[in-house]
Amino acid sequence: MKTKLISLFLILSLLLCGCSEAPQPTTAATVPPSGDGLLVHFVDVGQADCILIESGGEFAIIDGGNKDDGQLVVSYLEQQGVEELTAVICTHAHEDHVGGLPSVLSVYPTAAVYAPTRTYSSNIFDDFLYYTDQQRLEVTIPAPGDTLTVGGAMLTILGPVQSYAETNDTSIVVRLDYGDTSFLFTGDMEVAAENDMLDYWSGNEAIFHVDVLKVGHHGSNTSTGYRFLYAVDPTYGVIPVGKDNSYGHPHEEPLSRLKDAGVTLLRTDELGHILAASDGTDITFTWTDQSAQPEDAEPAEPQVFIGNKNSKKLHSEDCGSLPGENNRVYFDSYQQAIAEGYEPHGTCLN
Ligand SMILES: [Zn+2]
Ligand SMILES: [Zn+2]
Ligand SMILES: [Zn+2]
Repeated sequence: MKTKLISLFLILSLLLCGCSEAPQPTTAATVPPSGDGLLVHFVDVGQADCILIESGGEFAIIDGGNKDDGQLVVSYLEQQGVEELTAVICTHAHEDHVGGLPSVLSVYPTAAVYAPTRTYSSNIFDDFLYYTDQQRLEVTIPAPGDTLTVGGAMLTILGPVQSYAETNDTSIVVRLDYGDTSFLFTGDMEVAAENDMLDYWSGNEAIFHVDVLKVGHHGSNTSTGYRFLYAVDPTYGVIPVGKDNSYGHPHEEPLSRLKDAGVTLLRTDELGHILAASDGTDITFTWTDQSAQPEDAEPAEPQVFIGNKNSKKLHSEDCGSLPGENNRVYFDSYQQAIAEGYEPHGTCLN
């Protein structure tokens, strides 16, 4: 897949003030004609997720931002000409994912609504269930391997593969394919559940390899573990994250893991709304904030991995249980070490 990054001025201010003349965030040169291709909008909803998928005149939404983002999300959908939705997917019940979906469901006729549960104790989740019910629908809890189509694009559910007490780990994980291009959306799923997914799809881990990863949990260090990241092996990582958020997202550790893995990062706190357009071969990115650029994958210093010749365990440089000097093998690439039969140490390289 060839890719290119093109910065394009989009009319964020007009969108936010609700003026109707705002042009579509497209140019004839870079975006396929309407009815063709795939558009993936990472809507800038601050410290929250909202992704709109558009192909062949059909639309699906994954998460809806916080409750206060409801009107912004509905305005954004209006701007894109949405009249109905093929699918509404709530990755998990936290407010920064389900929050704006009641507003969306109150406006747009929807063919199917997905969530990992039908029970969660919060007013906003109750609103989500209420507006789903108003459409005479019941929330569908998808299973790994389930698929649905949005125009010419295919969505495949990859997780979660079991139930979890921790709400972030219940996140629905969706792979999106259009032609030879692909995306992966993981909600806020954390490392243990990422690894459970890899185990579940063991022997078929290529199913995780995509061009664009929606980086898990706003770039928290509790997500995007080594095993998962190198199975996905994306070219681009998009991080929906709020400026100056109180969690300190995105954390340094996953940013450095991603850059070391050669991933170019696009962040909504820096770029605003981010639009990925695919013609089935190439993916082109555009974004609203012209003062900023994506962060290229150039690690500050090359990373070193240390293998134990005897146990065949692979460690990070700063692991507390490194082997003695005689038993060490040094690698400058995680993937090379795995290819030579080394297994990541669960503590330092989970
Ligand atoms: Zn979240
Ligand atoms: Zn969450
Ligand atoms: Zn270790």
